[in-house]
Amino acid sequence: MNTKSLYQEVILDHNRKPRNYGTLNEASHHAVGHNPLCGDRLDVALNLENDHIDDIAFQGESCAICKASASMMTTAVKGKPLTDVETLIQEFREMAIGKLDLESPHHLGRLTVFSGIRDLPTRVKCAILPWHTLHAALNSVTTTSTEARNDPVHATAGKA
Ligand code: ZN
Repeated sequence: MNTKSLYQEVILDHNRKPRNYGTLNEASHHAVGHNPLCGDRLDVALNLENDHIDDIAFQGESCAICKASASMMTTAVKGKPLTDVETLIQEFREMAIGKLDLESPHHLGRLTVFSGIRDLPTRVKCAILPWHTLHAALNSVTTTSTEARNDPVHATAGKA
């Protein structure tokens, strides 16, 4: 299977059966993210225990790319320590904007199915939004937007 059809298959699969879709009874962290360019709106809730993401869930109204990205994100970060999660957020973001060297060691695993998104500038923010919202939740920012100037991901981008 080539990269493009694998990408389409993954997007379809995660839209048919989004993983960790819904809400949590107990959430220590929570954020709502918006991507005004596409109209994506995402709600990410998680429960942090001893610096591990014990549980995570998402819901919202979004396009297929955003939903698949959110679904894969929740499975990737569930059970992981915060330091690993921060690394994944950073690497995913760099991959999406074409700044990650995929030949070098990284931790993205199956998430590299989104590497082609760098060639679709209008969809990059759709793929990044879930990660962006997760980052906001972990930093106790309750609402965020891909277009916000003071959000943590943009702040990092400015320095890079
Ligand atoms: Zn979108």
